[in-house]
Amino acid sequence: MIRIIVVGAGVSGAHAALTILERGHDVELWDVGREETKFPEEGVSFHELKGRLADPTTYFLGAELGALVPPASAELLRYPPSRQFLISPQDPLWSFISDGFSARGSFAKGGFANGWGANALAFDQNDISGWPISSSDMEAAYKTVYKRIPVAGPLEDDLTPLLPGVHPSQPSVRLTPADQRLLQTYEQRKQELAKLGVKLGVARLAVVTDPRRKDACDSCDR
Ligand SMILES: Cc1cc2nc3c(=O)[nH]c(=O)nc-3n(C[C@H](O)[C@H](O)[C@H](O)COP(=O)(O)OP(=O)(O)OC[C@H]3O[C@@H](n4cnc5c(N)ncnc54)[C@H](O)[C@@H]3O)c2cc1C
Repeated sequence: MIRIIVVGAGVSGAHAALTILERGHDVELWDVGREETKFPEEGVSFHELKGRLADPTTYFLGAELGALVPPASAELLRYPPSRQFLISPQDPLWSFISDGFSARGSFAKGGFANGWGANALAFDQNDISGWPISSSDMEAAYKTVYKRIPVAGPLEDDLTPLLPGVHPSQPSVRLTPADQRLLQTYEQRKQELAKLGVKLGVARLAVVTDPRRKDACDSCDR
């Protein structure tokens, strides 16, 4: 009997392992990664946490505001202390630089998806021109992925024509009062903004929001 082992429990490894499992084979998923640091309070939103912590600035931005990228720095991002399990300067992948890009790898159990923005986008034909597959070839695979990773978002809004291949199946994430005001202003000034090519809509995010589901996110806007 063949023993199948998938190395790495990020989204790529998890999908590979699940596909092998669905095809009727046993599979082991190995990950060398660090465990996520616990949130100070389970199930509360960012806004609630800000109000409850004695020193929210240090929690969210680190001592000396170390998570902020100074304007003159070439770095794209830094993580606050609570997210530093994702990347450590000692990680061998951290300094892997290749021509034209610098790769980021994570040694967190579950990989970078622990710290991603959860934005759900699909490649379109323009993105993959020159590749040996077309975006229509990828449509079936996207549909499978969207069954596994439900996406929250509106079924239709002004962004729909710009987001082919994205299939929201969950209610949109809860909007903050500021988001709601922004959308109202957009509705009022839509024609004027259309001339500038501006379109606004609610993000499509890989988050379970259906309150009837046990795994629904109860801390959205985190
Ligand atoms: C700040 C940020 C925001 C992002 N936002 C988005 C977003 O909004 N939407 C989006 O689609 N994508 C986003 N991404 C990209 C997305 O997170 C990554 O593309 C994706 O997580 C990569 O998955 P992966 O499985 O290929 O690799 P990783 O997530 O890096 O997983 C690799 C896994 O392998 C393990 N591993 C590595 N080496 C070994 C070894 N030798 N033995 C055992 N285990 C090992 C690691 O511990 C890790 O768990 C974002 C990325 C970053 C950094």
